[in-house]
Amino acid sequence: MARKVGIYTRISRDDEGESLGVARQQQDCERLTDLRSWQAVKVYEDNDVSAFKRNVVREDFELMLKDLRAGLIDGIVAYDLDRLARQPRDLERLIEIFDERPRLEFATVTNDINLGTPDGRTMARIMVAFANKSSHDSSRRIRRKHFELAQQGKDSGGPAPYGWRKNDRTKVDPEAAAAIREAQREILAGVRIGTIRTRWQEQGLGNPRAGTKRMAHHHVEHILTNPRLVGYRTYHGEILYGEDGRPIPGNWEPINTVEEWEAVCAAVAERKQKQPGRSLARKYLLSGIARCGLCKSKIRGQTNPRWSPGSKAAKFTYRCSVVNGGCGKVGRVGEPIDRLIAQLVLEEQRERAAVTRVPMEQQWPGEAELADVEHDIAQLVEAERAKEISVATLLQLLPGKERARDELKLKRARFYKEQKQAEAKEDAADLSVEDFFSLPIERQQEIVLHSLSAVIIHPAGRGRRKFDPSLIEPVWH
Ligand SMILES: [Zn+2]
Repeated sequence: MARKVGIYTRISRDDEGESLGVARQQQDCERLTDLRSWQAVKVYEDNDVSAFKRNVVREDFELMLKDLRAGLIDGIVAYDLDRLARQPRDLERLIEIFDERPRLEFATVTNDINLGTPDGRTMARIMVAFANKSSHDSSRRIRRKHFELAQQGKDSGGPAPYGWRKNDRTKVDPEAAAAIREAQREILAGVRIGTIRTRWQEQGLGNPRAGTKRMAHHHVEHILTNPRLVGYRTYHGEILYGEDGRPIPGNWEPINTVEEWEAVCAAVAERKQKQPGRSLARKYLLSGIARCGLCKSKIRGQTNPRWSPGSKAAKFTYRCSVVNGGCGKVGRVGEPIDRLIAQLVLEEQRERAAVTRVPMEQQWPGEAELADVEHDIAQLVEAERAKEISVATLLQLLPGKERARDELKLKRARFYKEQKQAEAKEDAADLSVEDFFSLPIERQQEIVLHSLSAVIIHPAGRGRRKFDPSLIEPVWH
């Protein structure tokens, strides 16, 4: 049997080519995997982080080490050693695993190094040590130039980011901006970034460079949460603050208000906390929501192998599965159940919305308090500059104020996020069943879970062919 290997790709924040680069790396790694007659079973992709910065955790890199250790993969293919381990520390951790599991495979596209042999390890250590040093040197040089430009609020060069005009990075591209705003509303309504990525790829949105189909997950996330959207100048992904403690404004047209943008960022961050790693997309509406009427275990949708486009067979069924610990005795054609549940849920939400429309567009009540704190900070900084207080005094007073400011901002982000989420949810009340089914699946599920905690599917007697709604029992909150 072919050895199962993982492919590792990484792009650093300083690369402008972004998704292009990752696609290239992956292709080359796949080719190499084929050459060695291995089987690529998983792609690990770390993005917008530089392995050279000590404090960033590379999530997929960590996951890959875990998978290697657990024996889920039998080796690694990476584009080059730099991508994989720019820090000697990372390399040593890898070597440790190769020690524990001596038969592991290793290959990179650009160098011929085998971590399984003592010679290969020595070579790798030398290369990583050099890469580490040159990375220090070059990043220091480039950093200074970029920083100077950034401090003046000047835009960096290069191709226009998605959302702005190709020939003029300072002007908004209305069509792209509309697509961004729509996707942001979806994020607030619970849609996953992966779903938006798929849709954008189909519609040719999101990537201003022609000819590339694939877009990385992080690329889409970046487009939707980029501080540039509110006109904030960033430097290496961090918002730049001026001497007055305020973000340095860039010289381009913004797409979002600060409230909108903060709400989206908070929603994305929250999701990440809740679902570390990649969750598989649920394909069927009631997967994990439906339960078996006999054994009460969770039921998932299953594609019917006899179905083909144009055939009369059911497309999928909800089936109690022995593999997942169920009794295996209940199964039912899926589509009529989905339709029934959608009707019931939408009806219930329409009724509820008629009674309890929440007044929206409320302003966050802490705005004045935040303005005060920001004013205090500005005054302190000003006082130090005018030599009314010493730097030591300033630094004594500043951290407390800054903490207060950051906490307030976090509260504001949460406030608008919740408001916008509530708005997005309310929209469901006006949906027709057709509208409902045209939404992304996780949005549909979100709407269902808003009303129901489960759907119990009771067994139908033998030979009964017709769909009987009374055997489908929704469990309301
Ligand atoms: Zn069962």
